Amino acid sequence: MAIETQRRRWDGKLYIDGSFVDGGRGDTGPVLEKATGRELGSQALAGADDLERAVHAARQAQPGWAARGYDERAGLLRRVAAALAARADEYADMIVRETGSIRGKAQYEVNASQNELYEAAGLASRATGEILPSHNTGKLSIIQRVPLGVVAVITPWNFPLVLGMRAVAPALALGNTVVLKPASYTPITGGLLLADLFEEAGAPAGILQVITGTGADIGEPLAGHPDVNVIHFTGSSEIGQQIAQIAARGLKKTSLELGGNNAFVVLDDADLEMASMVGAWSSYHYQGQTCITASRHIVMRSVAEEYQARMAERARNIVVGDPATDQVGLGPMISEGQRDRAHGFVQESLSAGARVVEGGTYDGLFYRPTVLTDVTPEMPAFTEELFAPVAPITVVDSEEEALELTNRTHYGLVNSIYTGDLARGLAFAEKVRSGMVHVNDATCLDEAHVPFGGMGASGMGGRSGGEANLEEFTERRWISLQRTPVQYPY
Ligand code: NAP
Repeated sequence: MAIETQRRRWDGKLYIDGSFVDGGRGDTGPVLEKATGRELGSQALAGADDLERAVHAARQAQPGWAARGYDERAGLLRRVAAALAARADEYADMIVRETGSIRGKAQYEVNASQNELYEAAGLASRATGEILPSHNTGKLSIIQRVPLGVVAVITPWNFPLVLGMRAVAPALALGNTVVLKPASYTPITGGLLLADLFEEAGAPAGILQVITGTGADIGEPLAGHPDVNVIHFTGSSEIGQQIAQIAARGLKKTSLELGGNNAFVVLDDADLEMASMVGAWSSYHYQGQTCITASRHIVMRSVAEEYQARMAERARNIVVGDPATDQVGLGPMISEGQRDRAHGFVQESLSAGARVVEGGTYDGLFYRPTVLTDVTPEMPAFTEELFAPVAPITVVDSEEEALELTNRTHYGLVNSIYTGDLARGLAFAEKVRSGMVHVNDATCLDEAHVPFGGMGASGMGGRSGGEANLEEFTERRWISLQRTPVQYPY
């Protein structure tokens, strides 16, 4: 069914206990198309009563859902994937408008969401246990994997559909129930349209709820709710820290997928035509607004001048505009706030001695792809996650210095190395402190079955994807059966 036909069902609603319902407070806010500022729809601003209803529904539904056969849980996820495949173009169109991304990124997101669903469907039958040996030979010692209960999923705005799906699908596959709070910039593709797929696929009432509203108003009380067992949070390291504190107070399990300040390293034997193409893609893809963007280019001196010139040429050739109506390579940034934050860091770096080689200007939310050079490790263009289409270049004199600077950050999400020698690339990769390292490819890579995640301030060691989701969404239970009586002293 077309999005426009179904709009009345979800627009401005919450999804609780199997129905789209009005928020109890009756307050709504607009959802804007980022390139034009036109209204795309509205979102309910959920209140405390809505949160209670959502968590209660999830709590009530969880034991029954976990008791169903794995094939029923897997079957639902496959039907959701089929529903998404049937509506792929419309969903991609809404992602273009709501996130301001080009169609290619939106189509990637729709495909990746289907992959997450299929991967999670396969996981439902892989929640296997173990039989352990015991020093007591009469004992059968069984380890079961059991669901955790109610999972709060809190997501950002940059890849709203797939970042919601990558948590919702495995959580449900493994017998948990979910309350999802999408980012307030993207409640439609991050929440309401996701719920609409589950509704269409015949999901039992209560296994998935979507509540919309701001992080402070509804995200924080959701995370802290005593009936929420797990907080699966994707977002900034700053809010991730707050989530960790909330979780500590309630002794809850957390999965934190946080920010990054990722390096793209160019060694002196790299093919610069290829390296600059991959480097430009890593920094400019979706306006640089991904956690796995290359936000630092660390380049060896002997190739720096040519690399910088090639990057500048690539940046110059990128067309920026409205991705819904024009043939463009980059769309708008998500908000004025994000633009001003990033532009402030660029300006501060320029005042400290960096130079603009290309770009550095904007028109409204449309930020020109930018190349900065003479960037030193003290400048904000090096130390901060910029989240903008900016490629800051720092020149180094040796491979050792490149490695030291790559690791000079409290983040540890992903890094890439470009070299003409794979063995050299592997040796470098093995000394890099990040959850993901790529040799001769972009920083922005993901697949549904790989353990995606970061070290340090990028996420405290949790991973999303494939088998790693077993750790995130189940816990172990030891059951022992004593076949022969045991004698104790009293
Ligand atoms: P954010 O400001 O941290 O917000 C993320 C989510 O948390 C949103 O839904 C937000 O709601 C909510 N939130 C805000 N304050 C909260 C609070 N006090 N308690 C509970 N929830 C709260 O991040 P963002 O700007 O949306 O996304 C960009 C960040 O996400 C970047 O740092 C990026 O690197 C990171 N990211 C990481 C990954 C990964 O897999 N590692 C993937 C994508 C993005 P509102 O929208 O209402 O504020």
